[in-house]
Amino acid sequence: MCGVFGIYKHSDAKRLISIGLFNLKHRGKNGAGIAGKDSLRMVIDRFRDLGPVQSILGPSNEGLKRIKGDSFIGHVRYPTAGKDSLENVQPQESSSIKGKFFLASNGDVVNFSEQKSFLERENIRIYSDNDAEMIAASFSWQVSIKGRNIIEAAQKVARHVKGSYATVFFTDFDDNMYALRDPMGIRPLVMGEKDGSPVFASETCALDAIGAIYIRDVMPGELIVAHQNGISSHRVADNKTPAFCIFELVYFARPDSIWQNSSCEHYRESMGQMLAQEHYVEADVVVAIPKSGIPGAVGYSRESNIPYGIAVIENPSPLITLESGQDIDRTFIGATIQQINAEADDKYNIIADRVAGKKVIIIDDSIVRGTTAYRLTRNLRMAGAKEVHWRIPCPPIPYSCFYGIATKEKRLLAAREGDIELVRKRIGDPDSLCFLSLEGLIKSTNCCLDCFCTACFNGNYPIPIPDNRL
Ligand code: SF4
Repeated sequence: MCGVFGIYKHSDAKRLISIGLFNLKHRGKNGAGIAGKDSLRMVIDRFRDLGPVQSILGPSNEGLKRIKGDSFIGHVRYPTAGKDSLENVQPQESSSIKGKFFLASNGDVVNFSEQKSFLERENIRIYSDNDAEMIAASFSWQVSIKGRNIIEAAQKVARHVKGSYATVFFTDFDDNMYALRDPMGIRPLVMGEKDGSPVFASETCALDAIGAIYIRDVMPGELIVAHQNGISSHRVADNKTPAFCIFELVYFARPDSIWQNSSCEHYRESMGQMLAQEHYVEADVVVAIPKSGIPGAVGYSRESNIPYGIAVIENPSPLITLESGQDIDRTFIGATIQQINAEADDKYNIIADRVAGKKVIIIDDSIVRGTTAYRLTRNLRMAGAKEVHWRIPCPPIPYSCFYGIATKEKRLLAAREGDIELVRKRIGDPDSLCFLSLEGLIKSTNCCLDCFCTACFNGNYPIPIPDNRL
């Protein structure tokens, strides 16, 4: 899960892309980069760095200051593939006979090794282990070796590159900007408009942040070309069944982002309501893990008539921020397990008199590794809670994700055996633990199962995963 952003020919493009990417930092906080194109001189330059997004994209960053242009693409990094090193930070660059491609992508390519070996046999060198460089290199190969135009090249890339990718890219040999989404549309990509200039972003919240108007989603298997006279749309892949990542609605996307005409907050509250219908328990108060558990708790409280209360707060002064300057806004997207554990330890505090002597229902968006839940069960007990009941507004996660979320190591998943009782023990032995059913989750979205990827819940991978990776 990363964030991408692109803005085509706008006089204030550089400032706007920094704002847009900053508003996608919930999708990646371990690095960021931009590429700027001066369309008069047809020159593209880029700046990338590791570290907190705000320090990379802030106006005082010297590296950023030298990048000029009227069109920009950019990326915030969440490391799901490849080392956490500078060469893996996007946008990535690839050279062809015609010129250079610069590309930023959100997603994971599942046949990366096969494609990389193929390109290297064709003397196209890939310097990183990053999917975006491989996709850019595939375009380079298609346009130089095969002499195809970019629309034809995109058709070939969509056929041969398997996995999830929501990309924005441009070249130094034409005047356009491109947005491409994989044939199943696993990761989100939206199009907007700012003062007549096309804008592309992973989520609508980034459009809102720059005052752009949302136009529509980039469709699965669609290539949109922004050019001097407007935009054109090209279907570059067969009309496959879509498989939008349902976890975007459960957790990843920002609550104010819009999907299918409703906010993610709306869907999450519905999940909480559905959860109360499926797994009611008598209690004195419903509390949430901030911030991602709040909508589920609000929905649960509304449906069950058990009052919602604030008892878990995010520590406003965590030690890790004092020592490293790193914010711990989203524990889940830390670069390493050590970082995730350190952040979870420090992240929350309990307001003891809100829970002492009470039967407490506690709600988080999901249980992935169980890192946070274990600590919260222990801390609620220490604060004097009489009973602790966990309610989770999505199903257990026994399967790894290979499409852009760092849960490839199944051994780290709290529900890896598919046994809820084992999960309950692993998260500190609370009085009860219940999950929303997959049927309930789908119902909360007003869509059908076939619209979504639900592989981490049921193991039905919409794009086959090579056996050696399962
Ligand atoms: Fe999303 Fe899960 Fe599918 Fe990964 S496996 S794309 S997290 S639904």
